[in-house]
Amino acid sequence: KTNRKFHPDNSIIDVGGVKFGESHIPVIAGPCSVESEEQIIEIARSVKASGASLMRGGAFKPRTSPYSFQGLKAGALIYLGKAREATGLPVVSEITNISQIEMMEEYVDLIQVGARNMQNFELMKALGHVRKPILLKRGFSNTIEELLMSAEYIMSGGNEDIILCERGIRTFETSTRNTLDISAIPVLKKLTHLPVIVDPSHAGGRNDLVEPLAMASIAAGADGLIIEVHNDPAHALSDGPQSLTPEQFSDVMKKLDHLARAV
Ligand code: PEP
Ligand code: MN
Repeated sequence: KTNRKFHPDNSIIDVGGVKFGESHIPVIAGPCSVESEEQIIEIARSVKASGASLMRGGAFKPRTSPYSFQGLKAGALIYLGKAREATGLPVVSEITNISQIEMMEEYVDLIQVGARNMQNFELMKALGHVRKPILLKRGFSNTIEELLMSAEYIMSGGNEDIILCERGIRTFETSTRNTLDISAIPVLKKLTHLPVIVDPSHAGGRNDLVEPLAMASIAAGADGLIIEVHNDPAHALSDGPQSLTPEQFSDVMKKLDHLARAV
């Protein structure tokens, strides 16, 4: 059960040795999509040097347009495995279909459910039987209650290792890609014992907003962050405009470090 009344203490979710839900705030960083073995290894090395605890990289990309880059699929998972070998960072990647479960169990430390699949209940039920932690992102048109219900679907199969993620919701505002629902952090923390992390990259959709949204999230009580970082954002195959360069990421990490010590 997600409800805090059944579990008053915060749940600590262990992802390949990195703990979410404790006072230390892990940051997941990496490109939206894995584009090549060299790319993912280079980015993994740089984000690790800046203090990231985990690496992200999309293999199966749920793109709005069928004509956009769809991801390197299984090949990307193999490259992620190599980046993990090179750096020791655990890896997270998104699952889009039940048929990918076996592959994900083999190559990934944390299985991401994207915003578009949060209410794919057959997938949630199947993930209930997986023995890997799940990163469950809030759908961009879903309520907090619906997010928790999706977590319940996973839990009802026996998998209680879930990290929730606020990644922005759709509003009338068009200046930003989505509107980060800052309130979701304290609201969720009150309702549930599960860790809550924030994705400032997809929330704002702009690289200049990543730092302020990340800072606000930590101040509001987030248990972690997931940030898109690319070695050449202008030529990224997906989400370049919101991706930080490794140098920008390093600056953000320094600011976050100061803030985390203050809150
Ligand atoms: C992603 O993490 O690259 C992604 C597609 O996120 P979301 O599902 O939140 O849009
Ligand atoms: Mn992305």
